[in-house]
Amino acid sequence: MRRIFGCVVLIVMAAAPAVRAEVKAAKGPDEDGTKAALVKIAGEGMLDSHAFQYLTELSDDVGSRVTGSPQAQKAVEWGLAKMRAMGLENVHAEKWQLWRGWTRGTAQAELLTPIRRPLHVDAMGWTGSTPAGGVNGDVVAVNMFDLDGEMKNMSRFSGKVVLVVTRGEPNKSFIQLFAQFGDFLRVAGKAGAIAVIGGQGGGKASGMNLTHTGILGFDADFAVPVVSMTAEDQGQLERYVERGLVPRVHFNVQNTFSSGPVESANVVGEIRGRENPEQVLVVGGHLDSWDLSEGSTDNGMGTSCTLGAADAILRSGMKPRRTIRFVLFTGEEQGLDGSFAYVKQHQAEMANHLGSLILDNGQGPVRAFQLGGRDDLVETFKPFASALADIREVKVDDKIEDGTDTLPFSMAGLPGINMDQDSPEYKYTHHSAADALEAVKPDVLAQDVTLMALAAFWIADRPERFATPWSAEKTVKMLVGQHEDAMLKAFGLWPKAFADIEKKEEPSN
Ligand SMILES: [Zn+2]
Repeated sequence: MRRIFGCVVLIVMAAAPAVRAEVKAAKGPDEDGTKAALVKIAGEGMLDSHAFQYLTELSDDVGSRVTGSPQAQKAVEWGLAKMRAMGLENVHAEKWQLWRGWTRGTAQAELLTPIRRPLHVDAMGWTGSTPAGGVNGDVVAVNMFDLDGEMKNMSRFSGKVVLVVTRGEPNKSFIQLFAQFGDFLRVAGKAGAIAVIGGQGGGKASGMNLTHTGILGFDADFAVPVVSMTAEDQGQLERYVERGLVPRVHFNVQNTFSSGPVESANVVGEIRGRENPEQVLVVGGHLDSWDLSEGSTDNGMGTSCTLGAADAILRSGMKPRRTIRFVLFTGEEQGLDGSFAYVKQHQAEMANHLGSLILDNGQGPVRAFQLGGRDDLVETFKPFASALADIREVKVDDKIEDGTDTLPFSMAGLPGINMDQDSPEYKYTHHSAADALEAVKPDVLAQDVTLMALAAFWIADRPERFATPWSAEKTVKMLVGQHEDAMLKAFGLWPKAFADIEKKEEPSN
């Protein structure tokens, strides 16, 4: 999912280079006794990584794996088998329920006037169907930047195909617009719109004749068919509309929903801690994918990194002080469902968690450890990041990544650490037909695996405990400080307990 919010994310790199000598207070691997083990793990990760083999199997033998589908179940079984074969302990599936299942059917579109030609479209996830056989309609534009105004007159969309455009300046933040787009889709369906042309958050495709599927909210489904159209085809429609023409199109979109909730499961395996096995660091990525291709970058990368990191640590023979729990989450693409389920199911155990370490930003090399709101840990983490300098320069900051499985951990007051990547090509592979093994370079994957394995082992093994969860009060303050509350509230993810804390603190302001 990640890229839903990706376009508002700017990575601010600190100007000062991280030099080992600069940090005196916190101890890195040179001083804290972890270095010998890290050297062995780095050797296994860089010289003998099995990660690309895992990714090849996942891409070619499992393929696409939409949460709740039979292919996703096959992926869960594959993940369990891999974890058992490499020798992880306590390997098991942790079941949870998705509110509703969805299966892609066909999506066909044709431009009828002013010229006749096929249009390239794919349905967005968890959206509905046209009448069987399809239907013809005129294209009517809707301005994404003024949905308030547009929603005052919905009758004009009846029997039409709605084309999302952007005109003028947005009258809301990007996140608010994204949330409001969901409201618009609901009323557009009720108003009798045939279909809506617009990607995640109303966004447009990246070019190269690709479409990008995805969900349109957290656990959100829509009766109206919504499609991603190639940027090239959509651009042509926009030009017609701009000239005052009314293009006529044929749309035939067929999808199916399950009648009720469907089962899914996170895949879990551990390296138990030698001194404090009750203390747990979660390391993971998401096993589920979209279905226009094999999901090798989103998030086969995270899945193969997680398995590759576990394998490298196991083969090094090194045992961490605390438990490293490797988790392949499912349901990420529907709204981080698997990781929210994990935090809920392990509620009683969260006080013993150290945080989570997640990779889900495409196919590029790691460029930053983002500590998920925990500014108190940045100085602690820097000496470790500096020790990686001979492999790669990796920055450290306290930013929250709210578009992947880091978020539920940050909301639990823990460092939901995002391994941010430099992935310029991800805009093409993201949720598209180009998300295939060809997009992944084995050497980059091996390096990412190694960095994940080293970070996991260092956090779990350093003499001092890395982190304990912040109180809900402190967490609310941090989330508000990082402006995450607006997004969480817009999508209905702000817990009642957080709202109560805010209310209590209001009078003193
Ligand atoms: Zn993802």
